[in-house]
Amino acid sequence: MTEQDRPHHGVRETFRESHCESGDAAVQAGPLLELRGVEVLYERVSVALRGVSLAVPRGAIVALLGANGAGKTTTLKAASRLLGAERGEVVAGEITLEGRSIAGLAPNKLVELGVAQVLEGRHCFSNLTVEENLQLGGFVHGPTRGELSAALERIYTRFPRLKQCRLSQAGYTSGGEQQMVAIGRALMSNPRLVLLDEPSMGLAPIVVHEIFEGVRELNERDGVSFLLAEQNAAVALRYAHHGVVLETGRVVLEGSTDELRGRSDVQRFYLGDSGTDRERFIDRHRVRDFDALMV
Ligand code: ATP
Repeated sequence: MTEQDRPHHGVRETFRESHCESGDAAVQAGPLLELRGVEVLYERVSVALRGVSLAVPRGAIVALLGANGAGKTTTLKAASRLLGAERGEVVAGEITLEGRSIAGLAPNKLVELGVAQVLEGRHCFSNLTVEENLQLGGFVHGPTRGELSAALERIYTRFPRLKQCRLSQAGYTSGGEQQMVAIGRALMSNPRLVLLDEPSMGLAPIVVHEIFEGVRELNERDGVSFLLAEQNAAVALRYAHHGVVLETGRVVLEGSTDELRGRSDVQRFYLGDSGTDRERFIDRHRVRDFDALMV
């Protein structure tokens, strides 16, 4: 599909025209999504992000790695403007989409602009069928019946299993199928950037493989960019182009996935046998060494 064919093309152009003072060329040159020095507080007191900076280039898969509580979900929710529902708030720094600040935009406006979030825990409407769940994600651009069924067919091509169980109640499908439904529902809005939270959580390796292969195809064939949070660093680094490692709300390391996979410290802390050695990366590298660690 070309950019022209996308139903939300007009919305995106409107965004670019109304948000871009320096012209399309400058907008196209920068990353699709960028966080600069982002700090997040929950309940006005609890610090979750401490100056996070990262970029998602157009057409890239960026993996956000880190242990429980590192700040991965918070980073995704900051980028999709969903922190408010959790009494969280960006108190410093800036988040931009195509070079323009997203501050003040409602979450649904971001979806219209092509940013979709798949929340952790594969949320589905369990009483609705798989197909009804998918359809719910497609209404954001007010599609015609033909556009809606074409969008459904694209999802079924990516995740053939969903076609087989399309009339089943989502609540009775497997964990892997529910994760595919959650991703498929986000894809129905025809996003160019998907914020994907822990897609592998609780799933068997073969299902994780199926889901990540779907992500790879969406990226390579349809040009969809991803910022994906994962505790399963081995899988994430296999499929992503760039990796960003978070610890206690800080970026402690970033680089291409080839570089990260080749580092002995990353292998030790993130790619080793799970649970055998989970001491924090940050404890092994004094804070003043962080600059030297940055790739
Ligand atoms: P996990 O893999 O367990 O989801 P994570 O890396 O996604 O971890 P976050 O969920 O972003 O981490 O949490 C970052 C920090 O913010 C943690 O200290 C967490 O306890 C805190 N936190 C997260 N959500 C809230 C909330 N709604 N209210 C208060 N504190 C929160």
